[in-house]
Amino acid sequence: TRVDNPYAGAKVYVNPEWSAKAAAETGGSRISNQPTGVWLDRIAAINGVNGGMGLRAHLDAALAQKGSGEEVVQLVVYDLPGRDCAALASNGELGPTEIGRYESEFIDPIAAILADSKYASLRIVTTIEIDSLPNLVTNTGGKATATPQCDTMLANGNYVKGVGYALNKLGAIPNVYNYIDAGHHGWLGWDDNFAPSANLFYQAANAEGATVDDVAGFITNTANYSALKENNFTINDSVNGVSVRQSKWVDWNRYVDELSYAQAFRSQLVSVGFNSGIGMLIDTSRNGWGGSARPTGPGATTSVDTYVDGGRYDRRIQVGNWCNQSGAGLGERPQAAPATGIDAYVWMKPPGESDGSSTAIANDEGKGFDRMCDPTYTGNARNGNNMSGALPNAPLSGHWFSAQFQQLMANAYPPL
Ligand code: BGC
Repeated sequence: TRVDNPYAGAKVYVNPEWSAKAAAETGGSRISNQPTGVWLDRIAAINGVNGGMGLRAHLDAALAQKGSGEEVVQLVVYDLPGRDCAALASNGELGPTEIGRYESEFIDPIAAILADSKYASLRIVTTIEIDSLPNLVTNTGGKATATPQCDTMLANGNYVKGVGYALNKLGAIPNVYNYIDAGHHGWLGWDDNFAPSANLFYQAANAEGATVDDVAGFITNTANYSALKENNFTINDSVNGVSVRQSKWVDWNRYVDELSYAQAFRSQLVSVGFNSGIGMLIDTSRNGWGGSARPTGPGATTSVDTYVDGGRYDRRIQVGNWCNQSGAGLGERPQAAPATGIDAYVWMKPPGESDGSSTAIANDEGKGFDRMCDPTYTGNARNGNNMSGALPNAPLSGHWFSAQFQQLMANAYPPL
């Protein structure tokens, strides 16, 4: 039987592999004991890549860390066919039609391991397919932001099928808690995207044998940079009679930060049929935006833009920028039940792991080169044709990026 919030009263698994990389960095021991997500980002990750730990090794280590208390293990289930359809940096190993392999070679073996009675005492949090379903809402059809790859995944139904299959299989295991990816406020916070996304998530949660009872909640801001709470302005403010929503930064969004978005989206999800007990996770691994550039008060009331831009913590050039953002810092340390409706703040994206390479790098992981990771790129429709804001000299997505790790520590908020 599941508890309402798996994080309540529990320790969270510290991944020894991430921990060792963090500890090897100057100053890294200040955070190397923090829990981070274990990414199952390809079939080979189940048994361990290049001699690294596989799923059983992580679960065995979690049992050892558990002791007599409760222990949460955080897994990211990330290998959909046609993965990362609106970008290239995290394209995966499975082609758009390979739903059969996804089910039999990826989800089934994961489910078989998680169902082992040896692991029944762990609380296993599975975050399902980051950045997949939201792409079907925002990057398809006649929209300027559409990509042919996302149109394909909408048309062939394999994102919805894959998520439904994963929810059903993993949800059948009594100590597994499924959380579906719910983008972030700077993606789904607009009226055009908000309700349609909740409806699509409901559809996926009822596909391939899944039901809403297979869903413990949703995760926002995974691997993204949206600030948790902007204290220097709210969505209801106006300057000289002009709403904050009309500022260039907010651009008619209904939300200015992740906490308000996650809470409102939770209500929306319940209203379309998800259980009232669902909880939200917010990834705070890289959304601290501290350091010397952090504003100490509201911006000047000359215009709505000076007000918002002078006061906002999030220092991105544009809210659609997602790759290795320059100036970012570690956010809130992982913690249980920090606010109403929020099961936990988590570090699902391990700080120090790249979002994508700044130049093309040959690899056997299926990863492409996305110019959103190139600091000289002038953008596309999905970031309003702005500069990418990415750090230079980044390695492939998922690979260790020391310079970013150092900047994240330097700009941590709360500070280390
Ligand atoms: C990459 C994965 C990696 C994950 C965590 C993703 O962007 O595509 O390979 O495991 O980030 O760093």
